Amino acid sequence: MKFFATSCLAVTSLPLLVVANGGYERHAQLARQVAVAPSGAPAPAVTPPPAPATTSYSISLLSTNPTAVPLSDIVSTEATSATRPLDSTYTPGSIPTFLPGAPPLPNAALLSPANYPALDIPPPVDNPLVQQWIQEVANSGVPIPNISVNNIGGCQNNSVAAADPTRCWWTCGGCTRQTDITECPTPLTWGLTYDDGPAYYTPDLLNYLDQENLKSTFFVVGSRVISLPNTLQTQYMGQHQIAVHTWSHPPLTTLSNEQIIAELGWSKKVIKDVLGVTPNMMRPPYGDIDDRVRAISIAMGLTPVMWTRLSPLATFDTDDFDIHGGLTTVQSVLNNWEEIMGNVTTMKTGFIVLEHDLFEQAVQVATGYILPDALARKPPLTIQPVIECLNKPLKDAYIETNDNSTNPPAQSGVAVTLSSGAPGSVQATAKPQSSNGNSSSSTTKGTKGNGASSGIDTGLLAGALVTIAGVAAGIAAVF
Ligand SMILES: [Zn+2]
Repeated sequence: MKFFATSCLAVTSLPLLVVANGGYERHAQLARQVAVAPSGAPAPAVTPPPAPATTSYSISLLSTNPTAVPLSDIVSTEATSATRPLDSTYTPGSIPTFLPGAPPLPNAALLSPANYPALDIPPPVDNPLVQQWIQEVANSGVPIPNISVNNIGGCQNNSVAAADPTRCWWTCGGCTRQTDITECPTPLTWGLTYDDGPAYYTPDLLNYLDQENLKSTFFVVGSRVISLPNTLQTQYMGQHQIAVHTWSHPPLTTLSNEQIIAELGWSKKVIKDVLGVTPNMMRPPYGDIDDRVRAISIAMGLTPVMWTRLSPLATFDTDDFDIHGGLTTVQSVLNNWEEIMGNVTTMKTGFIVLEHDLFEQAVQVATGYILPDALARKPPLTIQPVIECLNKPLKDAYIETNDNSTNPPAQSGVAVTLSSGAPGSVQATAKPQSSNGNSSSSTTKGTKGNGASSGIDTGLLAGALVTIAGVAAGIAAVF
């Protein structure tokens, strides 16, 4: 049954209501403050207020956070919330005792943006450091396939590339190689990841993760690290895993080899400058990876980490990023989450989900709904950073502290064999799914899931890039 709020409730909000079917429902604008006339006073003539608009939410989460932002408030037009200060900050020279062999924490205050490329655009390749990295890639022994640079616009705008299975372009069909990390090996184990930070609302996420003693992998954008280095230090010292998500968040298959090297190289450098260690995992923005991007990443000591994809309609992307831009709704995101949860109990492996900490809406969904629900699942989920879900210690996640005993780098001076035993297949004509998912009605059990991310949508891409640049501008204005 559905519960409909009425205007007689003198409250400004109501908790989520557990209803008979085990679901939760909530309605926007549940009530308004009711003016009560003093006893004995003549009742003022009032015009009856209009009936409150109601928006029904239908979700069936096992638990939610008592302090969750109401679903009706998690919208693209919501007012910007006050940001939370970091719960912990660390003085320069602090020792990351949890990482044997890690150097003392650098002084983030010494970070000078002038020593780095402009934010949010691919760095120039004529810089001496970039030239050095280009040489190092050439010297690595990893062959870089001669694959042409893609056009912006995903599969639809790159028909030849999309139809070429030898490129193993994930975007158009989900092709992966053995070097890609796409899942955790143990069933019911969730390799927790958040992309695109550090950002204004990352401290809210960190606070919740601390509260629940959860650790995550953060794929960080170099341009954001420049803006919020102290946040990155708190993430790192909180024993979360830090990994690379490029300098300016471009679709990497649209860049030249040299530009890709610059994107990854500057990201590695700024993280090392802020933390003292260099990540050895990367996630390509938009999941945009082919064998050329793979080889360059591996040559630079970075193992690609994707998110789980069971089929074109079961890609483990909550689409949380798109609430901010109004391209999807919190209802749709939670539907995606529930469909992911519907799949994981039948999988023979664990899983990795795409989520973000760039915008407040995504953090609100994570801390208010998704993580509380995940923690209440029976049988329980094991929630870990990617490196630990792979049964490796956190020290293996950084080049300086990985002793190579349990995690030898993919490149070791010999050619990398990229297996073609990938689960995906190229679908040249695949039309990108709508970003709001929920197109699972025709799918069968076991392949059910959200429909997002099986292709790059041109408009979505452009919108995301613009949005990220906009946030960067805002951060730059503050810092
Ligand atoms: Zn991203």
